[in-house]
Amino acid sequence: MALIKIREILDGRHEGAKVTIRGWVYRKREGKEMIFLLVRDSTGFIQCTIRKNSPAWNAAERLTIESSLTLDGVAKQDKRAPGGYEISADSISIIGLAEVFPIAKDKSEEFIRDIRHLWLRSRRMNLVMKVRANVLDFAREYFKAQDFTEVSPPMFISAAVEGGSTLFGLKYFDQNLYLTQSSQLYLEILLYSLENVYCIAPSFRAEKSRTIRHLTEYWHIEGEWPFADMNDLMRFEEGLMTHVCQSAADKCKKEFEELGADIAKVVQVKTPFPRITYTEAIEKLKTKKPHLKWGDDLGYEDEKALADEFGKPFFVYDYPTAIKAFYCKTYRDKPEVAMSVDMMVPRIGEISTGGAREDDKDVLIKRIREMGLNEKDYDWYLDLRRYGTVPHVGFGMGLERLLTWMLDLENIIDAIPFPRTTRRFYP
Ligand code: ATP
Ligand code: MG
Repeated sequence: MALIKIREILDGRHEGAKVTIRGWVYRKREGKEMIFLLVRDSTGFIQCTIRKNSPAWNAAERLTIESSLTLDGVAKQDKRAPGGYEISADSISIIGLAEVFPIAKDKSEEFIRDIRHLWLRSRRMNLVMKVRANVLDFAREYFKAQDFTEVSPPMFISAAVEGGSTLFGLKYFDQNLYLTQSSQLYLEILLYSLENVYCIAPSFRAEKSRTIRHLTEYWHIEGEWPFADMNDLMRFEEGLMTHVCQSAADKCKKEFEELGADIAKVVQVKTPFPRITYTEAIEKLKTKKPHLKWGDDLGYEDEKALADEFGKPFFVYDYPTAIKAFYCKTYRDKPEVAMSVDMMVPRIGEISTGGAREDDKDVLIKRIREMGLNEKDYDWYLDLRRYGTVPHVGFGMGLERLLTWMLDLENIIDAIPFPRTTRRFYP
């Protein structure tokens, strides 16, 4: 008797055959003459029926929700069963009898979030995690196809990347260090050796505000490469996004369907993406928000308003230097404008930020001072401009923001198995 995955039966590959499955009880319904079990494994659910005269009856009676088991029986098509197939069970062996499972239908969202370690068994989280794994594969495929080398940057760092307000400090023996907010500066080091580099690694932000798009620990898809300009950067980013969306539309159809996510919006993602300048964005927004002026940062509501108008991913580029980080390269003839670009999507707003990095040592020092940062902390970063500096660009995209958009998730916390927010870090 072959030990098989439930998916194979649902795909019609074992019609009429004797099969063995291993999994957990998802639902149970008891009648006088028949017990119905809905059994799940990593691949899906199948209905299993146990007749009163079957040797499996006693075990079936004892089974509780989430008990683990091995079940033998005959697989057959049955239009009434969810998924169109069922197993008529001959024998059941209980592996682990579960205590009363705390998750029942009427539990609140809050409660479900408190017992995340058990909720991860739900079909919903199972599907999201599968799409997440696939999206990571698709992203890596694209980087590899473009000749990028994957690298592993550190998470303990000694100098801030982004602003100090979202920096997590920590005791490192008797020194003060930080958790990294982005791997960008380290990718910049590595491009002098490997040229096109990328990483997919955690970033940490001490975000106090509770929004649908912020976590304190998220996964950051970052790329950095030399001898490139803003146009190369936007072409790369839209290429990556298109590859991820098209591959997901092709290979994750079932997951989108079961999650009730709108697949049409990812099918529609195609290069080239619309591009508008920050100045044009301000002009557009001014019609609804007359007080907005050039130099203001775009907030979530502004980004959302723009993005909902486009109805698909697009770029906003050339932001004011004053609202950008110290490493952003500025236009030599208009230093008040930085070569910076955000990709935005409907409902979420920003999902990536990229730009050209300042490659002139003296301009960089000036920017570090202007921002009130300590030059000494960035000495190694300045070395990159001292020894064979090159024009280079890079970007960072939040994996969970991407998934939140793709899968129409209400909140970013469902895009990651163990979300970290101000209030949540258990388990
Ligand atoms: P925001 O203004 O939305 O807080 P940001 O501009 O500070 O974001 P960046 O420093 O540009 O963020 O980070 C690059 C990308 O990382 C963002 O475009 C976003 O996709 C993702 N990201 C940033 N902060 C978070 C966070 N707290 N949680 C999840 N993803 C994030
Ligand atoms: Mg940004």
